[in-house]
Amino acid sequence: MTFADLGLSPKVVSAVADAGYTQPTPIQAGAIPHALEGKDVLGIAQTGTGKTASFVLPMLTRLEKGRARARMPRTLILEPTRELAAQVEENFVKYGKNHKLNIALLIGGVSFDEQDKKLERGADVLIATPGRLLDHRERGKLLLNGVEILVIDEADRMLDMGFIPDIERICEMIPFTRQTLFFSATMPPEITKLTEKFLHAPVRVEVARAASAATTVTQRLVKSMSKPWEKRDVLRKLIKQEEEGLKNAIIFCNRKVDVSELYKSLMRHEFSVGALHGDMDQRARMTMLTNFRDGKLKLLVASDVAARGLDIPDVSHVFNYDVPIHSEDYVHRIGRTGRAGRLGKSFTIATRNDTKYIDAIEKLIGQSIEWHDGDLSTVEESEGETDAPRRGKGAPRRAGRKDEGRERKPRGARHDAGEAAAPKAEADQEVQAQPAPARAAAPARKQRDWSNEGNRPPRENRNYRRRDDDDGDTPVGFGDDVPAFMLIEAKV
Ligand code: AMP
Repeated sequence: MTFADLGLSPKVVSAVADAGYTQPTPIQAGAIPHALEGKDVLGIAQTGTGKTASFVLPMLTRLEKGRARARMPRTLILEPTRELAAQVEENFVKYGKNHKLNIALLIGGVSFDEQDKKLERGADVLIATPGRLLDHRERGKLLLNGVEILVIDEADRMLDMGFIPDIERICEMIPFTRQTLFFSATMPPEITKLTEKFLHAPVRVEVARAASAATTVTQRLVKSMSKPWEKRDVLRKLIKQEEEGLKNAIIFCNRKVDVSELYKSLMRHEFSVGALHGDMDQRARMTMLTNFRDGKLKLLVASDVAARGLDIPDVSHVFNYDVPIHSEDYVHRIGRTGRAGRLGKSFTIATRNDTKYIDAIEKLIGQSIEWHDGDLSTVEESEGETDAPRRGKGAPRRAGRKDEGRERKPRGARHDAGEAAAPKAEADQEVQAQPAPARAAAPARKQRDWSNEGNRPPRENRNYRRRDDDDGDTPVGFGDDVPAFMLIEAKV
C-alpha cells in the first residue's frame, strides 16, 4: 500500500515522499482513510508508531478547501506537553510544505503577544496545551466555534497530568458537528468514558503495543547506597565503564530536583550533558533537545514527564538514576533504547529502599533483572538509613513517601507547566486549587491491594497533575495536613 492509495491529496503525497516515507505504518493505513471521510477516529497507538502523521496528513488534505478567519481557528490539536506540541508543529511544517497554512502554537513559557498575533491573523491549524488554550480563550482572543477538526493526542498522558477536566471544557466549547480524532496509548476507564461522551460513532483503530520490554535491551540492576552522592558516584563509574559502546544516553530521575542536581554534578565532572525538566524555559528545553538529537550532547538527564512522548532517536544506553515508582515508566524508559532491532543497554541504580519497586517492575515485565555487579545484600549503608536529610526534624517516616513526593502535590486549575510568561497570580494557581473530590477521597481511602494492578495506584488516586512542576518533593499548601473542613465536597 502507498500513501496515494489512502486518498491523500497530491500535495500531501508529494511532501510525504520528500520526507522519505514510502509505506504507511499500520496506524496510518488504518486511520487515514476514515479521517479523510470526516469520521471520528479512536486511535489506540503509542508514540513511535507514526501516529502523528496519521492525523496530520488527512488534516492537511481536508484543509485544502476553505480558509481561516481571525481568532477562529479551523482545527485544534491538544497536546499534553509543550515539546509534543512543538513536535506536531514540526510535522505540519514538514508535510505541509506545499500548502500555505497558518499554524499557531499556543504553549506556556512563551509570551502571549506573539501567539495573539498569530491568532489574529487566522489560524488554519492551532496546536495547544490545554492550559494555555484556555488562558487565551478567557482573554477573549480566541473563539472555538469555527473548529472543524479536533485532535486529542496522548489522552492517557493528559489523564496522568490532570488535564481531563480541561479537555472536557474545551470539547464543550467546540461545535457538535466537528470531527474528532482521538489518540491514546492505553484505554483506562476514564478515557473510555471521555470517548463515549465526545466521539460520535468512532472508527476504532488499534495497533499492537510494542513488546512490553524490548528483547533487544540488556537490562541490569546496579547496587548503590542511598545517598545522592553515592548514587552519583555509581553512575559516573558506570558511564565510564560503558564508555566504549556508549553513543548517547538518557539518564532518568524521578524528580525534577534530582534532574537539575545530577545535571550540575555531571557538568562539574566534565561530561557532555544536557537536562530536560519543566522549570527550564521553552527555548532552553528545545536547545537541549536539539543538541542531544544532533549528537552535540552525549548525555541527557530527564524526568519521565519531560521525556514522555518525545521523538528522540534511538539511544545506546538508558540509565535509571532512580528506580521508577510506577513500573510502567520503567518500560517506557528502557524503550528509549534497543529500537528497530538494534541493541541497547539499560542500567537501573537500585538502593535498599527500592526493592518493592523492583519487585513490581519484574512482575510487570515478567522476568527478573540481572544484577550488574552483585546484589543489594552486599551493600552497607554508610549511616543508618537513607533519605533522612529530606525529612523535617522529628517528622515521622511514612511508607510511600517518595512516591507521594511526585503525586501528592495539589493539582493546578489548568496552567501549562512552567508558565514563565503568566502573571504571578495566575502562575500561583498552578499549585493551589485541587478539586475537593480528589482531596476528599485521599484520607478516607482504604489500603488497597494493588497486587493485581501492576503495583500502581488506581487511576483516580493519581489523577493529580503530574507535570514536571509537580514532581519536586516539597509539599505545597497544606501537604498532608489538610483541615477537615476543606475536605468537605463543595456543593455547586
Ligand atoms: P510518531 O509515532 O508520530 O511519534 O512517529 C515516530 C517516528 O516515525 C517519527 O520520527 C516519524 O517521522 C516516523 N514516521 C512517521 N511515518 C512514517 C512512515 N510511514 N514510515 C517510516 N517512518 C515514519
